[in-house]
Parts: sequence; C-alpha cells; structure tokens
Amino acid sequence: MSKFLMFISLSLFLASCQNSPTNKAENSIHSVTSPISIDSMGLTLIHEHMLVDFIGADSINSDRWNRDSVTAKVLPYLMEVKKHGVRTILDCTPSYLAKDPLLLKALSEKSGIQILTNTGFYGAVGGKYLPDFVQTETAEQLAERWIAEFENGIEGTGIKPGFIKISVNEADPLSAIDQKLVRAAAITHLNTGLTIASHTGTWNTAIQEVRILQEMGVKPSEFVWVHAQAEEDFENYRKAAELGVWISLDGIGWAIDPYVDRLVFAKENGILGNVLISHDAGWYDPAKPGGGDFQPFTNIFEKLIPILTEKGFSDQDWNQLLVKNPKKAFALGR
Ligand SMILES: [Zn+2]
Repeated sequence: MSKFLMFISLSLFLASCQNSPTNKAENSIHSVTSPISIDSMGLTLIHEHMLVDFIGADSINSDRWNRDSVTAKVLPYLMEVKKHGVRTILDCTPSYLAKDPLLLKALSEKSGIQILTNTGFYGAVGGKYLPDFVQTETAEQLAERWIAEFENGIEGTGIKPGFIKISVNEADPLSAIDQKLVRAAAITHLNTGLTIASHTGTWNTAIQEVRILQEMGVKPSEFVWVHAQAEEDFENYRKAAELGVWISLDGIGWAIDPYVDRLVFAKENGILGNVLISHDAGWYDPAKPGGGDFQPFTNIFEKLIPILTEKGFSDQDWNQLLVKNPKKAFALGR
C-alpha cells in the first residue's frame, strides 16, 4: 500500500469516527445501490462514463446494448481502479445518452465501487440529445421530471440520482433552451439539495450559468463547472474560485500536460480547495463492435500523481483533490 493510500485509509477511519448518527440524514447521498454516508465516499472520481451512446435522443433505445456484454467489458477497468484505492465513481452519462441505472447497479455490486448516477438533460451538440418535449415544456415542468427521479427513482427502477448533470452549448448569450435547462437545474437543486454539474467549457459560458443560478437563489458553490480545462486564461480559474464555483478539470484520461499546468497554477494561487479532477474516461459505445476501445480510469494514479508529486504536490494535496473536495462539492446542500 502506498503512502498516499495509507493516508487516505487513515483519513477515512477518522472521518467515520466523527460521523455521529444525528447528522446522518444530511450527510447521506444516493448511490445506485442505496443511500450512502457522504463520509464513505473516500477516494472519488467525479466524472467518468461506463456507457455512452451518441445516436441521439430520437433513436436511443436500451435494446441497442446488452447489459451483460457491457458489464463484462467494463468490470475489469473498475477492478483496476479499485486497486488504486478508488471507492466512489460519479457516472456522468445523462438521460438520452444511455444513462442505465440498472447497468450501473450491476457494476457497483460486482466491483464493490460505489457509483452515483444523475438527473438532468444534455443541451450541448445543438440539442441532439434533447427529447422534443424540452422545446415546449417550461423550466418548472422539466424540473418536475428531475425532482421526480430524485424522489421516486429513475424510469421505474427505484434508483435515485446523486447529482444533477446538465450541459449547455458555448454561446454568449446562452441559447433560450440552455438558459431553461440551467433554470430547471436551479429549481431541482432548491428542491433536492443535489449539486449541479454542467458540461460547459469556457468561463465566459460558465459565468452566465452562475449568474442565472445566483438570480434564482442558488449559491455558486452548488455549481460544478465541467470541462473547465477548456479555459485558456488561468486568471478565470481564480475568479471562479473567488465565487466558490467548483472547477472541474476532468479530461485526464485523454491528456496530461494541460492538467499539470492548470494544477500547478491552482496550487501556486491557493485555489486547490475549489478544484475537482477526473478522467472523463471509459466507455462502452454500442455503435462500435464489442463496445470499441475503452479508455481506462488510471492516468491520475499512474501518470499525473508521479509528475505533480515531483513538482511539490503533497499527500494532503491529493487528499484534498480526490477525497475532501468531492465530498464537499457533492454533499446535499442548499
Ligand atoms: Zn463526460
């Protein structure tokens, strides 16, 4: 066991000692198998995918994949990441892109890794992944659907979301549909306490979402700026952190260097407390033979940690990025 893993185990042990029964309710969150204590999340990857189908909202259908085949393909990658100490993974595949709670439940039970799924709709790629009713329904009506998933479970499975995942197109101003998705996310948050993660990209787009949320009474600290690695002006990371926004640097499955630069900036500027990291890796793609090539969830452990440890990142920094921040970012709160 590495020094870092020993440190993590000790932190988890101490956290479980401090977890009194009285704060259990507000300290729990829904995984795909059951409610879990937020303190049990431990080492967490906040943005990964088990399955994604890009065919579009008009053609998506769960007959396009076989759960057993997907499970057989994905499980070894989960077992691999478990060896690195990962205890919890947030699956960021939204509705109409092959969000499959029963698949996630099977993968969680077989791997022993806690998995969280999400509620919300994906507006990017010009609305290809939005069902037609999104055009005509109000933000309140959309939120009603998402709140129902939180209260009753997703598509009759009884499996409840652990966070809100939406996505918007890069634009200034945001399109009317995307603004509606952000407002629906705000309403859902105010009714459930679920954190809002939004696939976004640059700060110019993210700040528009933050302003809408603020107008609706949602704190910026309830917002995760997904794919923040697309931002080239690092000063904007400082601005986001000042507001309390979570900066999600989440494509580490696909590249290392841009993350080294951004994380060094974050450490030097004292804003690591607002940063989340993950791979955005995976996934089984039903359009490809055998699900296609699977990108493993290991670059953080095998590549990023050695490089940045050499540059002065400490065990405390890794604990902050991979244990403390995920828990704080995704705890239910209003
Ligand atoms: Zn993703």
